[in-house]
Amino acid sequence: MSLLTTEKEGKIVARPGIIRKTAADLRALPNLSDYAKADLQAGLAGLPGGGVNIAFEAVDRHACGPLRDHTAFRFLGRDGSRKDLSYAELARLTNRFANVLRRLGIVKGDRVFVLAGRIPELYLAVLGGLKMGAVVSPLFSAFGPEPLRTRMRIGEARVLVTTSELYRRKVAKIRESLPTLEHVLVVDENIPGTLDLGRLMNEAEDEFVCAQTTAEDMSLLHFTSGTTGTPKGAIHVHGAVTTHYLTGKYALDLHPEDIFWCTADPGWVTGTSYGIIAPLLHGVSSIIDEADFDAERWYRILQDQGVTVWYTAPTAIRMLMKAGKEMPGRFSFPLLRFIASVGEPLNPEAVWWGKEVLNLPIHDNWWQTETGGIMIANTPAFDIKPGSMGRPLPGIEAFIVRHEGDSVAVVDAPDTEGELALKRGWPAMFRGYLNNEERYRKCFAGDLYLTGDLAKRDADGYFWFIGRADDVIKSAGHLIGPFEVESVLMEHPAVAEAGVIGKPDEVVGETVKAFVSLRQGFEPGEELRMELLAHARKRLGAAVAPKEIAFLPSLPKTRSGKIMRRLLKARELGLPEGDTSALENSA
Ligand code: ATP
Ligand code: MG
Repeated sequence: MSLLTTEKEGKIVARPGIIRKTAADLRALPNLSDYAKADLQAGLAGLPGGGVNIAFEAVDRHACGPLRDHTAFRFLGRDGSRKDLSYAELARLTNRFANVLRRLGIVKGDRVFVLAGRIPELYLAVLGGLKMGAVVSPLFSAFGPEPLRTRMRIGEARVLVTTSELYRRKVAKIRESLPTLEHVLVVDENIPGTLDLGRLMNEAEDEFVCAQTTAEDMSLLHFTSGTTGTPKGAIHVHGAVTTHYLTGKYALDLHPEDIFWCTADPGWVTGTSYGIIAPLLHGVSSIIDEADFDAERWYRILQDQGVTVWYTAPTAIRMLMKAGKEMPGRFSFPLLRFIASVGEPLNPEAVWWGKEVLNLPIHDNWWQTETGGIMIANTPAFDIKPGSMGRPLPGIEAFIVRHEGDSVAVVDAPDTEGELALKRGWPAMFRGYLNNEERYRKCFAGDLYLTGDLAKRDADGYFWFIGRADDVIKSAGHLIGPFEVESVLMEHPAVAEAGVIGKPDEVVGETVKAFVSLRQGFEPGEELRMELLAHARKRLGAAVAPKEIAFLPSLPKTRSGKIMRRLLKARELGLPEGDTSALENSA
């Protein structure tokens, strides 16, 4: 068994490379205990008369059955308010929204954009829009005018739903440059040049017959995070609902009585696929918090709302770690039974932190905007190898491939690095990049979708993330994945987050440079720098360890919380920063 070293009680100690699961770790009978017996038929209804519609499966189907009075969403307001919506109420209000769109002359395939914080209207607009056959695109409310303009232009927005505050601050100044944008529906005020959504909703009827969409009809338009360049608009279809259902069942292990909390904003795909759709498909109650990250608030939500399944992201976990171990001790969340994470590599240290501080290890899973749903995952019944993304879910075939000229070859040998590829054909696979057919075609080699991520598969079938193809460092004949180096730096008690890049070097090709931000109670300094360099050298060897370490108060991240290594690199080398529309702190 391999030994990882890691920090405990301020010291670096040895730890096993596997977390073995026993029956005692399972607080509910797992949905997935035998891959061979997994049922790939989703428990969905289909539209009366044929066809499929995400909103029908998520809402309408439950609204006339035993779940009608069950809480679908609980909205926690920034101001401490609380609002529950049952499945029946959600059906009625999304019907009204669908009627509002219909009255405005919106037809199937028209693009409806939503720009709002995590308030009820956002959720009504997404589901109501899907229900009437519109193509919905939720945008991050923190985007500045420029990124909003780009996305609404690419997406040819016909309707925008927003708040008065966001309209005044961001939309008003770009509206003239968006010729396709006919209607702006404002949630909370009557502003000249816009429509008052509250009034329209009051006037709308409660009944609506779901549009007769097919599995191949476009449903959602999601923009990628922009970590590696200009965000791409990924086209999704209503048939994706099968993947949403199966992954909710197998990757998130949703059970009927669960209280589920997905912390992602619907401005990126996780916040829609799992913050809206998958939990509703399973008829569970979801917590939606309007406020931004705050460690204390988050522990309080886990406690007070009795969250049972929690889906979050490495960056949030690292921030909780940064806030210290004492804080969670002041709260108690005995009902929490499963924690999952997505979006970035989850450092082994974070998995262990979950186990030791929250009494539950964190289960990493992997997917992309393009895949529409979780593809590779750690699930409750199976052992975790901290640092691994887990194994392909039932129905998903994943491979490691090598490029050979213009074609690719599948690598069968375990522990061999290559590009992660998926056999095409899973229901939620994207059907194109909007206005970029060429780029879409380049993602495929025969039957395989090429993900752009480098990984390896071990002999037990677990997949290990190495880095994005663009981020991998080539030094003196070695291929160095930033994740490996970052994880080792994270083992040190002082390090809260780490981002690693390659710096061009005439002799070895590239040298490794690390940027770190520190946990509370630690100060940057020469002594600490030397200590970190020595720690990394001891763990990784001189060829892979960073040659330089710089301290930053925090690392540049996308709005969805991903470390932007390309930006660290551009800044280091004095190169143009490229597309920074997705940068967390950009205007
Ligand atoms: P862009 O494509 O615009 O550069 P992006 O790839 O960050 O942005 P997303 O689709 O939001 O946009 O993110 C998917 C990517 O996030 C994956 O390709 C992978 O690089 C990374 N990722 C997601 N989950 C994991 C994980 N569990 N481990 C490692 N990396 C992950
Ligand atoms: Mg990507």
